[in-house]
Amino acid sequence: MADVVLEDVNKEYSNGFKAVTDLNLRINEGEFLVMVGPSGCGKSTTLRMIAGLEDITSGTLKIGNRVVNTLAPKDRDIAMVFQNYALYPHMNVFDNIAFSLKLAQRPRAEIKERVLDAARILELESQLNKRPAQLSGGQRQRVAMGRAIVRRPRVFLLDEPLSNLDAKLRVQMRAEITELQREVGVTTFYVTHDQVEAMTMADRVAVISEGILQQVDIPMKLFNEPDNIFVAAFIGSPSMNLMEAVVRRKDSGLWMELGSQTLAVPESVPNRRPALERYLGSTVAVGLRPKDFEDAAIASDHPLDQRLRVNISLIEALGYEAIAYFEVDAKPVISREALELTEEHLTGEEQSSTRVHARFHPTTSVRPNDTIEVAVSMENAHFFDLQTGRAIRD
Ligand code: ATP
Repeated sequence: MADVVLEDVNKEYSNGFKAVTDLNLRINEGEFLVMVGPSGCGKSTTLRMIAGLEDITSGTLKIGNRVVNTLAPKDRDIAMVFQNYALYPHMNVFDNIAFSLKLAQRPRAEIKERVLDAARILELESQLNKRPAQLSGGQRQRVAMGRAIVRRPRVFLLDEPLSNLDAKLRVQMRAEITELQREVGVTTFYVTHDQVEAMTMADRVAVISEGILQQVDIPMKLFNEPDNIFVAAFIGSPSMNLMEAVVRRKDSGLWMELGSQTLAVPESVPNRRPALERYLGSTVAVGLRPKDFEDAAIASDHPLDQRLRVNISLIEALGYEAIAYFEVDAKPVISREALELTEEHLTGEEQSSTRVHARFHPTTSVRPNDTIEVAVSMENAHFFDLQTGRAIRD
C-alpha cells in the first residue's frame, strides 16, 4: 500500500489541448478516493497519468514517496480495471484471474492460493470453471476485479468500471466494490461521471471541471458546504435550486429578495457567514436544496417570514416523498458546466423565472394548479458570489 501524490500536475496533449491544469491531490494510503466530473473534464487523463499510460507535461507524481513520473507502468505496482474489462473468452474464470501471476511465473501453489483467496472475497468460488460467456455482467465485473486484486498491488485504478452494467446491477456492484476495497484496504483511485456513485462509494470525493480541481472532501461536506456554484449544482440529486437574490436589511435582520417575494434569513446564518453582510444591496446566487422546502400545510409551525407563495405546476408522488415543481420569479443561476450537464440551453432572451423542484412529505394533498405556501428552511440556504462563483462564507 502507498499514498499517491500529485503536485502541480499539468497535462497538455500534443495538439495543444490542456486537459489538466495545476492539479494538487493526495490519495492517502488505504483511501478510496473518487474523482467525479462531467464528460471530458480530465478524469481519465488523470488516471492514465497515475498509471503511466500518459506522460505528465509538468509536475510531480509520487507513489509511496517515490517520484514515478518516468517509471514504466509495469513497474508502478498498480492494477487497473476499465470500463471494458476485456476478459480472455477462451479461458475459464480461474485462468483469467491467474493470468498475471502466471505471466510473472509465480509458483503453482502460490497462484492457486491467491486465486482462491480472491475468488472467496469476490464470491466467485463456484464459478471458477466457467468461461466468461457463461457469466452474468456482474460476475464478469467481479472477475475483472479479481484479476486486479490477485496481484496485491499498492494502488488500484478504476475507470468507470460500472458503466457497462444496467442500473440495478450498478447499485449492487457499487456496494460490492466498496466492501471489497475496505476488505483489501488498497489505496484506490476511482473515476466516474456519476455523482451518486462518487457520493456513495468514496471516502473522499474530488470534483473536477474542465481540467481544474474544484473541491476535495468527504461526501457530506461537499453536499453541505460546496465551495462554488459548480460543486453546488453538480453534487446532489435532485440538484440544488440556484437563483438570483438581492441581499437586504430590514430592521435588524437580513432578507433575501427573490423576484417579487422576500425570505428572512435567520440570525445564525450571517453569524456563520459574516461575509454575507458585505453583499447588502447586491445580487447573489442563493442555493436551496429540494429537501429544504416543505408544503407549509405540513410544516405548519415554520416561521411566517420564511415562506413563498407559489403555484404548483406538477407534483410527482413517489410514495416515500412527493416532488413538487413551481416557478419563482427570480432569475436562475446556471453554471456553464451545469448547463451542459442538464442539456438545457438558454435560448433567446434571458429567463426571468426559476423552475424550482422541492421535496414534500408524501402526505401532502397539494395538486397541480394549487396556489400554496411553501416553507423554506433558510437556515440551510447556500450563498455564492455571482462574479467569482465562490461560496460566501467568512
Ligand atoms: P470521459 O468521462 O468522457 O472519458 P474524461 O473526464 O475522462 O471524460 P478525458 O478522457 O480525461 O476526459 O479527456 C479530457 C479532455 O482531453 C477531453 O476534452 C478530450 O477530448 C481531450 N483528450 C483526451 N485524449 C486526448 C488526446 N490524445 N489528444 C488530444 N486531446 C485529448
